[in-house]
Amino acid sequence: MPIYEYECGECRKKFEHLQRRPGDVPAQCPHCDGRKLKKVLSGFSVAAPAGGHQHEPSSACSSCPHGSCPHSGH
Ligand SMILES: [Zn+2]
Repeated sequence: MPIYEYECGECRKKFEHLQRRPGDVPAQCPHCDGRKLKKVLSGFSVAAPAGGHQHEPSSACSSCPHGSCPHSGH
């Protein structure tokens, strides 16, 4: 079963979520019960995700949330 990383939009903490079935997403943040969750795309196999994550992948960027990467200049 794949494990995906999510970031909470309220407390900004990241957590991992075990996907038990297709489409299974966490209902709320385990830290603050917030519901503004977004999946953190990791790895280099994802090509040009929406939001303009356009920089060379590096080890420093492997876990940054797409669309708000501190290394991309956005
Ligand atoms: Zn939270």
